[in-house]
Amino acid sequence: MTVRPDVVVLGSGVIGLSTGIRLAEGGARVLVRTAAPPARTTSALASAMVGPNLSPPDDPQHAWTDETLRVLRAEPMPGVAVRDGTLAARPAGATPPFAERTPGFRPLADDERPAGFGTAFAVRLPLVDMPVYLAYLLGRLREAGGAVREEPVGSLDEAAALAPVVVNCTGLAARALTGDPDLHPVRGPRIVVRNPGLDRFFMEAPMAPTWASIFPHGDHVVLGGAQRRSDDTTPDPAEAADILARCAAIEPALAGAEVLEHTVGLRPGRAAPRVEAERRGGALVVHNYGHAGNGVMLSWGCARDAAALALGAPPA
Ligand SMILES: Cc1cc2nc3c(=O)[nH]c(=O)nc-3n(C[C@H](O)[C@H](O)[C@H](O)COP(=O)(O)OP(=O)(O)OC[C@H]3O[C@@H](n4cnc5c(N)ncnc54)[C@H](O)[C@@H]3O)c2cc1C
Repeated sequence: MTVRPDVVVLGSGVIGLSTGIRLAEGGARVLVRTAAPPARTTSALASAMVGPNLSPPDDPQHAWTDETLRVLRAEPMPGVAVRDGTLAARPAGATPPFAERTPGFRPLADDERPAGFGTAFAVRLPLVDMPVYLAYLLGRLREAGGAVREEPVGSLDEAAALAPVVVNCTGLAARALTGDPDLHPVRGPRIVVRNPGLDRFFMEAPMAPTWASIFPHGDHVVLGGAQRRSDDTTPDPAEAADILARCAAIEPALAGAEVLEHTVGLRPGRAAPRVEAERRGGALVVHNYGHAGNGVMLSWGCARDAAALALGAPPA
């Protein structure tokens, strides 16, 4: 981009790309500056289920989730498939408030629930195959005129020298850029196995440090179910074996499935996402980071509000 951009977006994960698209499609000249390409972000490691919307209606996360669900249901996008699945919890009577609003909601009878689960209900939600989806978002951003340059900024002031508006979508790296003490790494392993024939997903409520999640994406299945405050991204074979065993106890077809990938991502943990604007010298800096384990789910809602703040309009 030779012309001075209207907005510099920092980051090309799901948050930076969605926000960049909203801005570029709204007519702004957008430059994305990123430390790593989309395929090497935390976003590429998400599982990734969108919904259910269990936050109270007055929590901003409720409206953000609703907006993402609206966008994903309205516009077919590569990597996104609406699938039937089961949400479950070990204790009985643990159906969360608002669960019955989820599309496809149906409590499962005693003989339909996996062994060891006192609560389980069927739902129908979008699952996102993140590498495919991020490649689509990148192409859509470029089609809307957005430019992408792979070079990290050293500070928000450096970014502010590039354009009158900066949107900070740097995920966990926002810790270094802003000094935000609330932002912390939450380690999450991701195991990818060859799909033995599953088409339904399964997600155990993450009420403990470990749980089971099974997300089929065509020829492969993404398994997960661990969170720990740590910035260690070294894959741990014992942790992977534990996840495989927990998932196979629910879906026996997964026992012995060929492991294709074992990686570890760091969720950008924060009590709540930070979506707000601040003045920095002559520039407007809009923050959009700290989405913890829900960045995909909140992406289009936060993109809408961050873009509105960047363009000087009040968020919806
Ligand atoms: C195992 C696992 C499973 C998950 N499952 C789900 C799920 O099912 N549903 C869901 O909604 N979420 C899920 N998440 C959470 C989700 O992945 C995150 O919330 C989301 O990826 C955060 O996106 P982001 O764009 O803010 O950050 P990131 O994807 O980390 O992107 C940050 C970007 O900032 C760039 N950057 C960093 N520093 C600089 C700098 N100085 N200058 C310029 N650019 C910079 C990086 O290169 C990167 O492009 C999961 C996460 C993990 C680890």
